[in-house]
Amino acid sequence: MSTSFGQSTVLGYPRIGANRELKKAVEAYWAGRIDAGELETTAAGLRAEVWQQLRNARLDSIPSNTFSYYDHVLDTAVAVGAIPARFARLGLSDLDTYFAMARGADTEPALELTKWFGTNYHYLVPEITPDTDFTPNPTKPLAEYGEAKALGITTRPVLVGPATFLLLAKGDDPFARLDDLLDTYARILTALAEAGVAWVQLDEPAYVMDRTPAEIDALRAAYTRLGELEHRPRIFVATYFGELGNALPALLETPVEALGIDLVAGPGNLQRLAAAGPLGGRTIVAGLVDGHNVWRTDLRAAITTGATVTALADHVAISSSCSLLHVPVDLSVETRLAPELFERLAFARQKVDEVVLLGTALRDGTAHVPVPLPSAPAGWHNSDVRARLAALSPADRQRGAYAERAAAQQARLNLPDLPTTTIGSFPQTAELRTARARLRAGTLDADGYQQRMRAEVEHVIRLQEQLGLDVLVHGEPERNDMVQYFGEQLDGFAATDHGWVQSYGSRCVRPPLLYGDVARKQPMTVEWSTYAQSLTSRPVKGMLTGPVTILAWSFVRTDQPLADTADQVALALRDECADLQAAGIKVIQVDEPALRETLPLRSQDQKAYLEWAVGSFRLATSGVADDTQVHTHLCYSEFGEVITAIDALDADVTSIEASRSKMEVLGDLAAIGYGRGVGPGVWDIHSPRVPSQDEVTEALRRAIAAVPVSRLWVNPDCGLKTRGYPEVEASLRHLVAAATSLRAN
Ligand code: GLN
Ligand code: ZN
Repeated sequence: MSTSFGQSTVLGYPRIGANRELKKAVEAYWAGRIDAGELETTAAGLRAEVWQQLRNARLDSIPSNTFSYYDHVLDTAVAVGAIPARFARLGLSDLDTYFAMARGADTEPALELTKWFGTNYHYLVPEITPDTDFTPNPTKPLAEYGEAKALGITTRPVLVGPATFLLLAKGDDPFARLDDLLDTYARILTALAEAGVAWVQLDEPAYVMDRTPAEIDALRAAYTRLGELEHRPRIFVATYFGELGNALPALLETPVEALGIDLVAGPGNLQRLAAAGPLGGRTIVAGLVDGHNVWRTDLRAAITTGATVTALADHVAISSSCSLLHVPVDLSVETRLAPELFERLAFARQKVDEVVLLGTALRDGTAHVPVPLPSAPAGWHNSDVRARLAALSPADRQRGAYAERAAAQQARLNLPDLPTTTIGSFPQTAELRTARARLRAGTLDADGYQQRMRAEVEHVIRLQEQLGLDVLVHGEPERNDMVQYFGEQLDGFAATDHGWVQSYGSRCVRPPLLYGDVARKQPMTVEWSTYAQSLTSRPVKGMLTGPVTILAWSFVRTDQPLADTADQVALALRDECADLQAAGIKVIQVDEPALRETLPLRSQDQKAYLEWAVGSFRLATSGVADDTQVHTHLCYSEFGEVITAIDALDADVTSIEASRSKMEVLGDLAAIGYGRGVGPGVWDIHSPRVPSQDEVTEALRRAIAAVPVSRLWVNPDCGLKTRGYPEVEASLRHLVAAATSLRAN
């Protein structure tokens, strides 16, 4: 059995399938249209396809266990037996227990969902308590290894590493359980070795964040212990998304045979490596191809970096900087992109070719390596936007005093205590999606589409009136996606046809490509909002996506600072706010759910980010009058670290995810003296459960303990587009009833 690592690899690969086959199969299973056997057949087909593609591309080190029905962190939780008792006792099959943890079941809420480092991928947060009974369950990695082997492909099973697993977990000091967990990892590694596994990949991205000396010592101790195991595969510790700092020398003091470093998001890793001293017979896996963005690699520059690594280490392999999970599957099916854009792009399949080419070039010389294209053609430049940006002053990011704004808004809106509202979208029914597909296919004309969407807006307005909500929304039926929708209307963006990326579970998004200067051609949302407002006397919220989120959920140009790109987007939104206000819209929500997600992983980089992030939001929103109420919405993150930035956004009302984390965020807001409106989510919309009126009341009671009633809003956690009408109606009815009865007391 060969023990060399190989010269080219990727840390992971998209598992959704070229046509989102996995999404379709999993959803069909949930809906009862196919059984577990059919689901498994589809899944096995997708896995085989990926392995064969990677082998045919001549990648010589191929990962496995990167497939997942929902989430790879959840897979690891299952592999170590970390199944909370409340799911275990449901008595379901393994597969249904797994989906229950992911989505909730009956009265059991799902595990918490949170963003994976700086990406828009969401993982399920493991729940670890002092009595979590870790037990090895390597069924899945073994099965995948065996499946690939049967195809003649030797793979390297991938698991989340033990330290990162616990650092991502929730509970009463999960990290204190590291020793226990290592027993379980040891037994898993032994089982893998017995099955003939030569290499295993353990992912430790948590160490590109600030870590205490104790956490770094624990990492060193953990891999020393695993390394000393008598019977185990060779260990490849993969790190990504940034710089390892002191964790790099610590890992090099352990017996692990390979260490992966991200040289795209963490260029400083190179210096650390050079300073670390002799690397012995260790393999350094150099992440030179950006796994988190879609631009082609500057191969010449990558080779220079690769050569530096080669000079330091006896064995070097080239890899993607992180798993390719975060980029679309294949560029070659995109037939409608402008050639000058197409030729600058690489999706997962193309990145594999880049990795292989780099591996070969480092061995055989650079004769076949193409020269890079210039970063931006002249046509991508907009001098008007640039002039406008250059002329901005601090006053352009400042509204009037809040007290006066609040008084003016209340005089105009006349809302009751505990006003009820929703976050924006209503269910995206199959009918709406069909209408959009028909529009694209040309079987429905623009007028027909418009009519269809208007009918939906009317339906949504009538429903909200019936339910008794106070501030209404138009429901966003016309939006496929909250970022894509704006991307399609702004200069400087392009859309792909098939560029899907997994966001969470079966949900995929198709991020736009932000390649050039951004400018608004015409109003983007005004017609929809004013139509909705024309149907009702209650206020309808205008609905925009904020600059940080537009950047976070797009693939963004890398040839200028993100701050400048964000301000270009902000100017377009500022003009949109002005137009909405002029058209009679009194409340405008600018969503920034991604504010926390793109927070740099190292604290030293966070201040600069938050400054431009907050600045761009304020640039977008501070052009409106005092009596226009600005809302913002944030979701699915630990907000503690950005709480002062949330305050600095200076929105009149902030709605925020809170139900899965039991209102924790309110304490954080109170602690910093946040004094404006806040709507903690009282219904977890990422789960199909309908909360009872009592549950909502209970959540509101907790909220009232932390926030004065006069500033408290009542709303779900997030938009309703992924839910169905029956659950939405029932849940909103409970929500309004809870608010109304509390008001009466
Ligand atoms: N307004 C958006 C919606 O309701 C917000 C979605 C989000 O926060 N992700 O769909
Ligand atoms: Zn949200």
